[in-house]
Amino acid sequence: MSQSVAFIGLGAMGYRMAAHLPKHFEEVYVWNRNFSKAQQHATEYGTIAVELAQAVQADIIFSCLPTSADVEALIDGVNIKSGAIWIDCTSGVPETARRLAEKLKVQNVDFLDAPVSGQTIGAENATLTVMVGGDVSAFERTYSAMAAVGKLIQHVGDSGAGFAVKAINNMLLAVNLWSVAEGFTTLKAHGVNLDAALNCINASSGKSLVTENIFPQRVLSREFPCTFALPLLAKDTGIALDLVHNAKLPAPILALTQSLIQAASLTAEANSDFSAAVKLYESWSKITLE
Ligand code: NDP
Repeated sequence: MSQSVAFIGLGAMGYRMAAHLPKHFEEVYVWNRNFSKAQQHATEYGTIAVELAQAVQADIIFSCLPTSADVEALIDGVNIKSGAIWIDCTSGVPETARRLAEKLKVQNVDFLDAPVSGQTIGAENATLTVMVGGDVSAFERTYSAMAAVGKLIQHVGDSGAGFAVKAINNMLLAVNLWSVAEGFTTLKAHGVNLDAALNCINASSGKSLVTENIFPQRVLSREFPCTFALPLLAKDTGIALDLVHNAKLPAPILALTQSLIQAASLTAEANSDFSAAVKLYESWSKITLE
């Protein structure tokens, strides 16, 4: 494509997502706070490592930072090209998306909240789900850019709707992770072989991403590879619970899960994967899931 594109934030997700862009765009700029990562990306994938001021002169600008606060601070410090479209793949806060969309509209820049799901493996294989909130025309004009990193690219509503869907998705993941930990600890306490139990459940109605993938590959294997940091999951469950409160709804399961994940995050070792949340329950039950 003749448009230029930039990717800001080459972390666990961004580094892999940006790697697909040179297959679709001639000019792909990358910027990262620790600039050596941008230089490494350029060497590895043929992107162009540039200063932030230059990256925001691209026609389409992707960002993928830990929090909405990080994105807003960054946007507040730069002059973005007029007519550009900013696609924020951070798992962020809906209210910030609405504020940024309003703020950038004045500069003739569209802002789409476009968080992703599918883990680092999905980023690597360009099979992410991209859930997009914001202006429909901006969505349509950048659909093919998002399709370079994802498989399902779905517009879900006005500004903030993408972030809202992502927060609830991750809350559901957290509920499931914690409940599978309780269920499998109970089975182990009753002397049941956990691999055999997994086989049955994965062919039955209780199966989920957690039972099919996260538990066997991360928990029962005791590997807990850190590809999605536990504090990021705690951030997401917090955003989801704020949505519940803003809607003045009761949500006892979600509130409890947010507290559990928050507690797990606070007590976990540094650089823990989200799956290591189950270690908090292991410390209560004194039963190790292996
Ligand atoms: P990482 O911690 O691996 O990467 C964060 C990136 O943001 C790094 O490039 C880091 O730069 C940069 N960064 C951090 N703070 C700032 C700042 N204040 N200003 C500028 N750059 C900054 O995070 P992930 O890639 O795992 O996650 C990014 C987002 O994607 C999060 O919102 C997360 O919730 C979401 N997400 C993560 C998934 C996963 O499986 N990991 C899956 C789906 C969504 P530096 O290298 O200099 O530290």
